[in-house]
Amino acid sequence: MIAIDGPAASGKSTTARRVAQELGFLHLDTGAMYRAFTLKVLRAGKDPGDSESVGALVGVTQIELHRANDALLVLLDGEDVTLAVRGEDVTRAVSTVSSLRCVREAMVREQRRAAGQSDVVAEGRDIGTVVFPDADLKFFMIAGIDARARRRQAELMNRGIRTDLDALAGKIRERDWLDSTRAESPLRKAADAIEIDTSSMTVDEQVALVTGIVRERLGRKGKP
Ligand code: C5P
Repeated sequence: MIAIDGPAASGKSTTARRVAQELGFLHLDTGAMYRAFTLKVLRAGKDPGDSESVGALVGVTQIELHRANDALLVLLDGEDVTLAVRGEDVTRAVSTVSSLRCVREAMVREQRRAAGQSDVVAEGRDIGTVVFPDADLKFFMIAGIDARARRRQAELMNRGIRTDLDALAGKIRERDWLDSTRAESPLRKAADAIEIDTSSMTVDEQVALVTGIVRERLGRKGKP
């Protein structure tokens, strides 16, 4: 079990996906799960911060992550919502929904079940601290706000969406603030996590660094 945590747009998802591919591990993108559930909350017209009405949806929601070729497929109650979970409305509401204890309890249970007996690279905000505190290796990825806003801008540009850099930086900061100041499982670095600053690293460099550390610490195949 490899845990990768860090703030928004720090390079976690791309790195986790590629590292998992290289090692032949399962990639568990827990942010995608919170996003899928948030989509359900919004579609149902619920107030994202209302624990009672949001909580009522938890037990009647099925979220699955599948690997299709090299990409991750997100299914919400059987529907492919891979693109929809990256939408602006979901991104705006996800930190509020994720701060609710009832949501976190259900997601963490599902994450532990999904990880099962497989070798997993799990990424999120509370993986090394709460979900898998006994992970074999923990990483905490960070990057300066400029680098993160630029990455997000390029990602959106790829999808044909033009955005203002300062506005993006503001949104990223706000989400980090919500994620790190909430009462339930806030974003923080585990005491035994290896910190990696990706500000001036390419994706290839991030993948090589993480894979190298995994192999060095856990053996050739990355298994303990
Ligand atoms: O990683 P990503 O940016 O897709 O995560 C979306 C949101 O989901 C985060 O901003 C956070 O609010 C929530 N999240 C969380 N715990 C995790 C993963 C994501 O609270 N383990």
